[in-house]
Parts: sequence; C-alpha cells; structure tokens
Amino acid sequence: MIDFQKIIQDIHASMSNIEVRGKIASYIPELAFIDKKKLGIHLIDQEGNNYFTGDSKEAFSIQSISKVLSLAMAFPIMGDNLWKRVDVEPSGDPFNHLSLLELENGIPRNPLINAGALVIADILVSNLENPKEDFLNYVRNIANDQTINFDKKIAYSEKETGFKNYAAANLLKSYGNIKNKVDDVLDFYFHQCSLQMSCKQLVNAFYIFMNKGMCQLNKSYLTVKQTKRINAIMLTCGFYDEAGEFAFEVGLPGKSGVGGGIVALLPNKFCVTTWSPGLNQKGNSKLGMLALEQLTTKTGLSIF
Ligand code: GLU
Repeated sequence: MIDFQKIIQDIHASMSNIEVRGKIASYIPELAFIDKKKLGIHLIDQEGNNYFTGDSKEAFSIQSISKVLSLAMAFPIMGDNLWKRVDVEPSGDPFNHLSLLELENGIPRNPLINAGALVIADILVSNLENPKEDFLNYVRNIANDQTINFDKKIAYSEKETGFKNYAAANLLKSYGNIKNKVDDVLDFYFHQCSLQMSCKQLVNAFYIFMNKGMCQLNKSYLTVKQTKRINAIMLTCGFYDEAGEFAFEVGLPGKSGVGGGIVALLPNKFCVTTWSPGLNQKGNSKLGMLALEQLTTKTGLSIF
C-alpha cells in the first residue's frame, strides 16, 4: 500500500529550502504580491481519502485551470457539436500568446488556449440563464463546496489589462465564432479566471475527471466518453508550450494556471493539486512541476 501522506510530506520538506522558485505572474497587482514561499499539496484518492501538506487550504487564483471547468460545463450542453467551434490540437504556444495561428478559419486550436476558452465562454453565455452565477454554482456543486467564489478585484484587474483577450475575442467575433457581445463574453471569462480555490477545493472539483465524470456524491456530470476526451485534452494541451515536457516528466493529464496552481490526475486512482506561485519560463509553476515529477516517480503511478 502506497503511503501518500508520507510521500507528499517528504516532497514538501525537500522543497522548503529551494531558493530559486521561478517568477511570480505580475501582469496584475493581485497576483504580483503573493508570497513566493507558499507551497501546498493536496491529493485525494478515488475512495475519497485525503492527504495534504503545507498551504493546501489557502485559496489562490486558479486562472487558466478554470478553462477545464468551463469546458466540462459546456461539453454536455453542446455534445460533439462543440468540436465544430473549437479544435483539439495542441498549440505549442506560450500562455500569453496571441497569434492568428491560434485560429484556423476562426476555429481555435483547442479549448485550453485563451482563444478556445473564449469560444467556450461564449457557448456558456448563450446557454445559461445567469451565466456567471450558474457557472459558479456548477463549480460549487462538483466540488461539493458552497464557499467557492470569484474574486471581483481580480476580475476587474483582468479586464483593465486584458488587451490580448479583447483582441482575440474581437478576432473570433469577426469570424462569427463568438455569437454574443464581446464584452459579455470577456466579462464571463475574466470572472471564471478569478475563481479563488485552495488545493483541497480543486481536487474535490477535479475528482469528476478522475472518477468517470462522477462527483464524490456519485452524481454524474460527464459521460465516461466525455471524461476521456477532456482528460486527453488536458494531457495534450494543459501546459501551454510545455505539455510535452509535463507528459515526459510527470505523465499525467492536468492543467496549470499563472496563479501557480497545477491540478493533475490518474484516472480511477487519484487527483492531486500543487500550489507554488513562482512560474518557470513557460508559465507553469516551477516547484509544482518538480513536486509532481517526484510524486509519479516515487509512487510509480502515471498513465505511462
Ligand atoms: N487570465 C489570464 C489570461 O487570460 C489567464 C492566464 C493563465 O492562467 O494562463 O490571460
């Protein structure tokens, strides 16, 4: 039997003295002033046992990790018609990239780059009665945690600085792949990125991707096939232009965000979140990647 608690504690301890922790995202003040020393790890297994250490209960800005949650909400609404609006190919582009190559005839490369997430946001704005509230409730429900919330200040700062997202949304609109008002879609997108969640809340939410689409209360949110597809997209597209390196080092589907969080999972086994705000040059948490590499190496558990 694998002693997950000892393993994550050993990993945490081995990292506490590391001085070179990468660079904190500084494009908005709310992210720039986070303590670089923060380090949390939380792992939940399929049976619902929890193992955690460090700053695992402190909420942080989940940023791009939210793109998986919005995709999970949009997929059952649209079914496979979703793939007429967004492709499933890795982009190999950095996190802050905006190029016409992200789009082919107005179709973004995948739902986890900004252009793709904006199309998903548009789909949710079209299909939900109260888009932001309904999305927030969806996240609260899959995580079984009604305390999860947006950070309005972060959403506002994103709006003030999100020039590339405005450009991407306008470009998509010009191709007809955004149906709603650009401002409404961006407002939704900036709010989803502003979700504040702890490592613990994130493993609870992402439990559905580890558990064939079912949350811990056995309610089904995705079919087995839909879950498989979302996990495949996380594996190939979840880490900006470092998805290959993440698969090579860690070997799990997952998603990172510029707030320093990484969620990764082994289907039918476990789901894990790490949080360390310092980012490597590719925009992924430096210590988070190291910690997850150690986790899959020490346990021998990865999809490979
Ligand atoms: N809110 C950020 C943006 O849209 C997300 C950055 C990220 O985590 O990749 O630029």
